[in-house]
Amino acid sequence: MSEKEQAKIRRIASTKPMNLLMRDYFVELAEASEDPSKKIAWCTSVGPAELLRAFGFHVYFPENHGAMIGSARLAAEVIPRANALGYSPDICSYLTSDVGAFLAGQSPMTKVDDRIKGVPRPDVLVFSTNQCRDVQDWFQWYGRHFGVPVIGVHSYRGIGEVRDVHVKAVAGQIEALVPELERVSGTRFDIDRLRETVALSRRCSDLWKEVLDTAAARPAPLTFFDGTILMGPAVVLRGDRRANEFYEVLLAELRERISKREGAVEGERFRIYWEGMPVWGRLRANATLFIEKAACVVASTYCNSWIFQAFDPRDPFTSMARAYTELFIVRDDTYKEKYIDAMVDFFSVDGIIFHDAKTCPNNSNSRYGMPQRYVENKGIPTLVVNGDLNDMRLVSDEQMTTNIEAFIEQLAERRG
Ligand code: SF4
Repeated sequence: MSEKEQAKIRRIASTKPMNLLMRDYFVELAEASEDPSKKIAWCTSVGPAELLRAFGFHVYFPENHGAMIGSARLAAEVIPRANALGYSPDICSYLTSDVGAFLAGQSPMTKVDDRIKGVPRPDVLVFSTNQCRDVQDWFQWYGRHFGVPVIGVHSYRGIGEVRDVHVKAVAGQIEALVPELERVSGTRFDIDRLRETVALSRRCSDLWKEVLDTAAARPAPLTFFDGTILMGPAVVLRGDRRANEFYEVLLAELRERISKREGAVEGERFRIYWEGMPVWGRLRANATLFIEKAACVVASTYCNSWIFQAFDPRDPFTSMARAYTELFIVRDDTYKEKYIDAMVDFFSVDGIIFHDAKTCPNNSNSRYGMPQRYVENKGIPTLVVNGDLNDMRLVSDEQMTTNIEAFIEQLAERRG
């Protein structure tokens, strides 16, 4: 981080215990990888992690690794390795950078602790296509490489109302994973352990929502950019008690900031909603850019994607199916617009920035007229920025900065 960036970003103290927790998680995976008696399951970020934890698997999330590669700005260097195998530069740059880094023998996890030598060896890979098809293709590449089973759930996409028929079908598929997971883990399925992990995940989700909701305060105690870092435990450790303990600590810190009126952005004037993926390789630069303009990105679809309010330990399979089908990414534009409307109201948003990530059409909601509809129907200013989550060759820093600065000027003019 440059001195300029360091000076402006008001660091959240709880980031320190979070980093230690994340380190412990990565080290546990590394140790399990060396111990044949321990089993490791790879899981997509919104896959059925609770079921895997109930079997005692150590659960690893390649998308989290993809984000680490993006943040380390390693992606552009390693993506060509995956392209050379026929994985197009146009598909998910998490996939291409993760596979590329693996082929290059590189991983940012090795920088976290000396005991970590690389990505952990999988015993089984479990996907859900609720977010996209890329995750299945991604896991199948590793399944072929390691010679281990790839199993998963095929979800609905583009739906409005989530109906019982959807939930029943997905619940049936999650339950159908049990025999293979029993075989790979060597453990009999125990419904009470599943209820326990679902209850822990639900608590984690509730705490994470409370954390994000603190940004409704003026000034907001945290930004979207803080959220992309602080969400780590909600992604990789949901269903693990330690994640919940961490969010209790974080929440206390944020509440204290609110009581002292300590905003994440000094002199906060504008409040913005970020729709779409973060630009991982420009997280700090973008955070600083908004701070300089007294603009706070108070909320995002992305950070909210790890809120699963349907989890219910009394009915674990059905409630998991509902939670993983209700996701924003699974829904049609009518639902998405209603959802963003509620966010705009709750967080008192002045304008919306849509990030059109070149290699992730699934998280880019600007391609079918939504930004224009916001301007025309609701009078909410919107901006579309072109970029990418990981492949920084697809990001024009100059253009993104100029456009964001002009957008904030526009918000200032509206204020008069
Ligand atoms: S949703 Fe987008 S970023 Fe995530 S795995 Fe799929 S294509 Fe990649």
